[in-house]
Amino acid sequence: MKLKAKNIILPALLVVFTIVEAYSRAGGAGGSHSSSGDGGGFGGSGFGSGVAIGWLIGSGFGRTILLIIIIGYIIYAFNKRKNGGGTDLESGMSGGPQGAPKPISPDFFAANQNFNQEAFIAKVSTAFLAIQDAWMNKNLGKVRKWISDGVYQRFNAQFTMMNALDQVNTLSNINIKQIRIESAEQEGDYSIITASVYFSDDDKFISKKYPQFDESFSGDTATEYWTFIKKTSVAEKDLYHTNNCPKCGYPMKDDAGDVSKCESCGTVTYLGDYDWVLCEITQEDDYNRNNYRLDKTDPNLAPLYANKDEHFCIQLMEDKASNAIMQYFVSHTTHDLKYVHRFTNDGLFARIEEAVKAQEKYVFNRLFLNEVSMISCIQADGMWLVTFNILYSSMRLKETEGRIVAIDNTVIERSLALTLTKKVGAVNKTELWSFACPSCGAPYTDTTTTKCGYCDAQINSGSNDWVMVNLSEA
Ligand SMILES: [Zn+2]
Ligand SMILES: [Zn+2]
Repeated sequence: MKLKAKNIILPALLVVFTIVEAYSRAGGAGGSHSSSGDGGGFGGSGFGSGVAIGWLIGSGFGRTILLIIIIGYIIYAFNKRKNGGGTDLESGMSGGPQGAPKPISPDFFAANQNFNQEAFIAKVSTAFLAIQDAWMNKNLGKVRKWISDGVYQRFNAQFTMMNALDQVNTLSNINIKQIRIESAEQEGDYSIITASVYFSDDDKFISKKYPQFDESFSGDTATEYWTFIKKTSVAEKDLYHTNNCPKCGYPMKDDAGDVSKCESCGTVTYLGDYDWVLCEITQEDDYNRNNYRLDKTDPNLAPLYANKDEHFCIQLMEDKASNAIMQYFVSHTTHDLKYVHRFTNDGLFARIEEAVKAQEKYVFNRLFLNEVSMISCIQADGMWLVTFNILYSSMRLKETEGRIVAIDNTVIERSLALTLTKKVGAVNKTELWSFACPSCGAPYTDTTTTKCGYCDAQINSGSNDWVMVNLSEA
């Protein structure tokens, strides 16, 4: 489901082709990848000028060879286009995780003395297959109990986009070749593990409404990096292989909605109190980019970690950023601002509202977050300001009079800078960022409101909890 763009230079031709690699497996896992010249077209200026330069330097026999290469490429690119619909993405090939995994940090072992690698890998395997199933069926009911809000919202927003196109992504012949722990670390009150999942599958995007965007990929191989988080001191239960409340044993429902909460004791299962919770899925290319991310040892973060009521954690801040940004995209495409309002302070909300209203409606064919990285954390005027670099990939379409027109001619990666703010010292009464009042902890009965129905607190304000204060598209 993710995507990456690369430039490859073919020196013999002096032609620069942009190679787009994308991935659409479920979850983001939706699946598939790789590329064709200039996102499937070769009419870009890169090709034109490249040909001209190539022609100038060629002569006689060399020029004939050059012509053959160019014609060969055109035939190759043309055949590729026939395989796919809208995005011109191609099947992916992965050789599995490269290099050795990072050694597990001694403080991870010290904090997780009963950690059982085999049992953990069995949970990853169960999670992987269950997520593919949930993705295909656009139903997160059975997996909600062990996925974070950010992961939930990534999927949920994608379902909204796919439903707008009457699109489904079917996956078949899923074969896990290897699961390996790549890193296991401590951060604040949490333990975090990333495992690679190397697998193959067949992957089809089908739209009843707009079959011109149908695509199918077979025999894909891919490697994804699945990150799980758990509060460090808690005893590990098993949310993956039982269907009972981890606290009281009451049977959990299979159709959890926005929040997976036990009907009997009221505990919320995906906050890391009971088991490893899936909090991020990263595609191989994105994982290997190694883009800058603030380190947990950064001195600016010390007061946040020191305040135990904060439960501060970079991984979970990035989860909030993912959640908010996906709701922002849904507000953009639906022109319904309720999705983004409660995460956004009044100043930014007014700007978003103005921008959305001024803009024609569009839908996304594919929308995925490649990377959400916390890049800075500062204090100013008694407020925390935490900024994230967000890379996302999408292909925008416009529906007019029953017809669909591509705004982008392939899946394009773009970046955003998002800043969250919160009053220094403010401590929220709930860990349910999206679904409960940060001031009194009451669950939202009306998610469109920005005032708590119980205590009257302003929900979309940094006085109580993290909210979006700035958002800029690069
Ligand atoms: Zn219970
Ligand atoms: Zn309240």
